[in-house]
Amino acid sequence: MTTITFRGTGDSQGVPRSYCDCGVCSEARSTGSNRRLRPSLQISDPETGTTWIDCGPDWGSQMEIAGLRALDRMLITHAHYDHIGGLPEWYDACRWTDQIGQAYCPPEVIPEISSRFPWIASRIRLIPMEQPLVLGQWYIRCFRVHHGRNGYSYAFEFVHASNSFRWIYCPDAIDMTEQQQEPLYGADLVILGASFVKEPFPLETRSIYDVEEAVGLFELWKPGRMVLTHLSHDIDVNKRYMMPEGIQFAKAGMTIEIRD
Ligand SMILES: [Zn+2]
Ligand SMILES: [Zn+2]
Repeated sequence: MTTITFRGTGDSQGVPRSYCDCGVCSEARSTGSNRRLRPSLQISDPETGTTWIDCGPDWGSQMEIAGLRALDRMLITHAHYDHIGGLPEWYDACRWTDQIGQAYCPPEVIPEISSRFPWIASRIRLIPMEQPLVLGQWYIRCFRVHHGRNGYSYAFEFVHASNSFRWIYCPDAIDMTEQQQEPLYGADLVILGASFVKEPFPLETRSIYDVEEAVGLFELWKPGRMVLTHLSHDIDVNKRYMMPEGIQFAKAGMTIEIRD
């Protein structure tokens, strides 16, 4: 059995935002159901150990919450701060425990990471995902997606060898081409980034889908289930807004189990 755990469900600033007193940020500070760390996912599998997707600046706190002392590998979607800002911290952890971290990245992301953190390669192996990665029963590949004003990002597709369960993690995307959307059709599970309920700004100034667009894509792609993550303080996870059955917001610590 593979267990997916949502460790970071927030947007690039997390929730609460340091400067903000809105209702969602205030709730995040008090009862805390909207408290969200920067986007990341933990994948646990008895056969292959712990795989982590994206190493944002909250990585250290997320490891504490997960009760983990080490990772077996990391997958990186793209080189934005909210997805790689924790790499220097992971580097230090690897150095102090005398391990070599394994980070699988889309090939074109590696030079960006190396130029940002030139010292990192001595403790973290940045492995280009030129070929799909086979991890136990899972066949994993990355594919490029538009990230609007912010350039590009990558999504990961996971296909199970024996039961052919297929799921996709696509936290940072907008305005995807038909070709980029192809793998999303009919997936058993899609985890998609949606930062606002309804973003009023022109498309060319935006970088992530909103909830209204995600609902449209849910109806188009018809996945078995869709979970929205990368949620900003605009979204109250206790509300349903216009979401039909089959879509939900990711909550911190929420798990999804996939049986072999
Ligand atoms: Zn992001
Ligand atoms: Zn991004």
